[in-house]
Amino acid sequence: MDLDLDEAARQFRGEAREWLAAHVPRSPLPSFDTAEGFAAHREWEAALADAHWSVVSWPREYGGRDASLLEWVLFEEEYYAAGAPGRVNQNGIFMLAPTLFSHGTPEQLARILPKMARAEEVWAQAWSEPEAGSDIAALRSTATPADGGWLLNGQKTWSSRAAFADRAFGLFRSDPESARHHGLTYLMADLRAPGVTVRPIPQLDGEPGFAEIFFDDVFVPDADVIGTPGNGWRVAMTTANNERGLSLRSPGRFLAAADRLVSLWSSAGRPESTAARVADAWIGARAYQLYTFGTVTRLASGAELGPESSVNKLFWSHLDVALHETALDLLGPSAELRGPWTDGWLFSLAGPIYGGTDQIQRTIVAERLLGLPKGDR
Ligand SMILES: Cc1cc2nc3c(=O)[nH]c(=O)nc-3n(C[C@H](O)[C@H](O)[C@H](O)COP(=O)(O)OP(=O)(O)OC[C@H]3O[C@@H](n4cnc5c(N)ncnc54)[C@H](O)[C@@H]3O)c2cc1C
Repeated sequence: MDLDLDEAARQFRGEAREWLAAHVPRSPLPSFDTAEGFAAHREWEAALADAHWSVVSWPREYGGRDASLLEWVLFEEEYYAAGAPGRVNQNGIFMLAPTLFSHGTPEQLARILPKMARAEEVWAQAWSEPEAGSDIAALRSTATPADGGWLLNGQKTWSSRAAFADRAFGLFRSDPESARHHGLTYLMADLRAPGVTVRPIPQLDGEPGFAEIFFDDVFVPDADVIGTPGNGWRVAMTTANNERGLSLRSPGRFLAAADRLVSLWSSAGRPESTAARVADAWIGARAYQLYTFGTVTRLASGAELGPESSVNKLFWSHLDVALHETALDLLGPSAELRGPWTDGWLFSLAGPIYGGTDQIQRTIVAERLLGLPKGDR
């Protein structure tokens, strides 16, 4: 692709930069893994949405501004460079929305997307279950046909943001005779519906945003099935590729962190002992940016995200850990105190786990990209 931006892209970027400079909160919002932070983030999302900066690449009718994918990447870079808050509705915006654009009905798009864009409805991902994390096809939660819809039963776990979220999307076994990837249905559920119990799980940092979700005869109408019943696995792969690939981890976040790392290194007196690691992290963030531009170019010419998302995920999750570990080494003993780098490091440790662990990503790369023989399992 041509890395020289045309006039329209430059203008788009300038407009975003100007708006963010005027509106990003001066001091960081409290963590959205707390009730107080969650409410503050909803307000921020509404302000973003009012100015049509919440979901730039969506069509205008759903709250976006019809921006191209390249413009979206540019916006993300500006967003993180401006120090803007993390996106409380990222599961909705970056995972469920692309899934709905590929498999949803016009009614679902019109009903769900505008509220998602404003964080009036914040979404949780209800995939993992006890005994079904890496091996999601082993899930045991069920959806049983009922009059006009489905009754959900079972338990989901490790659901980010579920402690405070409004709704969740997940996979349920709808055909009791089926096995593995067959007979699954992709459904959306109201987390405040009768029969739902949400039990928070404190995270490594002590904050309670994580949760288990229990479903006990929870009614979900037919209108909340995405795709066709029984075909949930195919729909889920769209979500997984977005989680691992492009949209959940845009390069903007790592570019901003790499720039902050370089400043930290300079203010620590430019120690020679960490120079190579700081340079590696900075180069890694730029490499990821260039790789993303390549992905965006391919998608713009009609390609779809596929198993190469796993390469992406391995790359960004390890880049994040390396960046933060280098920062903690630079901070020395003061890294023991809570602060943005320590918090970021704690979170980075989860990168090689959520969205599918490293081992699973490497197996996907080996089998589906390199064509190596399948291992025993
Ligand atoms: C911070 C965080 C946020 C999360 N958010 C969500 C969320 O919002 N929604 C949600 O649904 N889930 C979420 N998860 C759950 C996450 O997706 C799972 O933890 C992950 O898929 C791994 O599953 P598991 O924990 O059951 O581990 P297991 O599947 O039990 O795996 C344990 C270990 O065994 C390895 N292993 C397992 N099977 C194989 C195999 N076949 N070959 C090689 N190695 C293997 C794994 O790689 C891993 O190292 C989150 C997790 C974290 C840490």
